Amino acid sequence: MRVKCPRDASVLVLPEDSDRSTFSRYGIHHCDECSGMLLNADTASSTISEKRLNIMHESFETGGDDVDLDCPLCDSHMRVRKIVFSRLDGSEMEPIEIDGCPDCSSFWFDAGELQKISPPVIEYNAHREANALSIVIEMLMHLPFVIV
Ligand SMILES: [Zn+2]
Ligand SMILES: [Zn+2]
Repeated sequence: MRVKCPRDASVLVLPEDSDRSTFSRYGIHHCDECSGMLLNADTASSTISEKRLNIMHESFETGGDDVDLDCPLCDSHMRVRKIVFSRLDGSEMEPIEIDGCPDCSSFWFDAGELQKISPPVIEYNAHREANALSIVIEMLMHLPFVIV
């Protein structure tokens, strides 16, 4: 099945077709056009990320605001919520918005949201940017978070 970017409709790179292991390790589809990332609890290949994504999913089943974005995996309308991750020293990062599907536990991370909490990527190149932002996702999968 070809999974398309909910923002620009380009075909997402499959986790296993990526040259970066973070994508396959976390089952992340990514967009080479806009550097957005799609995560899903059912395709997460680590139990840590699966568990955390399921906790996140519960908050989208019960709340969040509707957004004009179709879920790339099941075509339901996605919702948006703000999440605050905490650093290892306990301080809070800037809140980021993520889009989540209330039906199938998929999440869409816009590149712009991940950039808020990542060091700047100096040379602009969508492919390289997606690789850099995958490291941000990997880090987030281990940090405490609250959904606000
Ligand atoms: Zn895209
Ligand atoms: Zn869905």
